[in-house]
Amino acid sequence: MIRPNIRAMTGYIPGEQPRENDVIKLNTNENPYPPAPGVVEAIQKALTADRLRKYPDPTGWRFREAAARLHRVPPENILIGNGSDDLLTMITRAAVPEGGLVVAPTPSYLLYRTLAEIQGARFETARFENDWNLPASWPPDHAHAVFLANPNSPSGTLLPISTLSAVAQQSAALVTIDEAYVDFATHDALSLVQHENVIVTRSLSKSYSLAGIRFGYAIGNGALIGELFKVKDSYNCDALSLVAATAALEDQAHFQNNRRLILASRGRLEVKLRQLGFDVTPSQANFVWCRHKSVEAKLIYESLKKRGILVRYMNYQDWPDGLRISVGSDLELDRLFDELEKLI
Ligand SMILES: *Cc1c(COP(=O)(O)O)cnc(C)c1O
Repeated sequence: MIRPNIRAMTGYIPGEQPRENDVIKLNTNENPYPPAPGVVEAIQKALTADRLRKYPDPTGWRFREAAARLHRVPPENILIGNGSDDLLTMITRAAVPEGGLVVAPTPSYLLYRTLAEIQGARFETARFENDWNLPASWPPDHAHAVFLANPNSPSGTLLPISTLSAVAQQSAALVTIDEAYVDFATHDALSLVQHENVIVTRSLSKSYSLAGIRFGYAIGNGALIGELFKVKDSYNCDALSLVAATAALEDQAHFQNNRRLILASRGRLEVKLRQLGFDVTPSQANFVWCRHKSVEAKLIYESLKKRGILVRYMNYQDWPDGLRISVGSDLELDRLFDELEKLI
């Protein structure tokens, strides 16, 4: 009953979401601060029997207008998604034929492989250089889709615009720049959507504190967005998430304030980890990638877990293992530092 490529795949495994409430979660890069107050108000206002009875706007026009104002592009250049993962799915569906080729550097976001496998496509990775730059003569010219998380996960590193621009120019593939973490970085790649093969994806899960509602959007040229629109589920974003996402984007003061808090705490986290003997990759995201000079990453992960602190342990085939630690609130980081001091 099931296609062979589906039977052969493992499926994407998301970070743990413990059912207990007293765990300090530093494993899936959620924002420790609440979303803008207008978000909860907008949901409460929209929560009427009549609103629930009717289908939501399939195009998400109100949201697209808000995003268009923020990014100074036409609303036609915005595509709504049920989380940015939904947009990555649409991109793969539209761009990659069965037996086609999806490429991404490694280590990076593991979902890209899963999407290729679902599509019945091949997936090829190329190892990052040791300084997290792209390997030379990449991507291969027969690829159909190129995925670049920028900032990258788990490294938190950011590729320069010149590198991304060269990829877009050299490749005939649809190049997706996955900017789930870009709000914590020094620059974004929005200017590159002038290339007709470039699309940028954004998420409200991290920088807008809305992982619970599932909302993301893509920015690209109008023709490309129009094609992707054809493969999206008709009502992929529900009525409540649409008003929530719109309210979130419209409160830029709240957003900037939370962003500043996280950047300050990220600095504190990097300094402390180095004092404790970790090698820390300088981060442009809301997490840091690190490994201790003498204590094994897996052991640190397990010991922290026993003490109620979850971080992400990552073990890749072609890269040294390490810990990806989300930037929590200052109180959460204090607890983390206490436990690490005891442990190391
Ligand atoms: C979290 C994350 C996403 C997905 O974000 P959602 O909007 O929650 O689906 C996409 N790409 C990367 C690299 C991420 O870390």
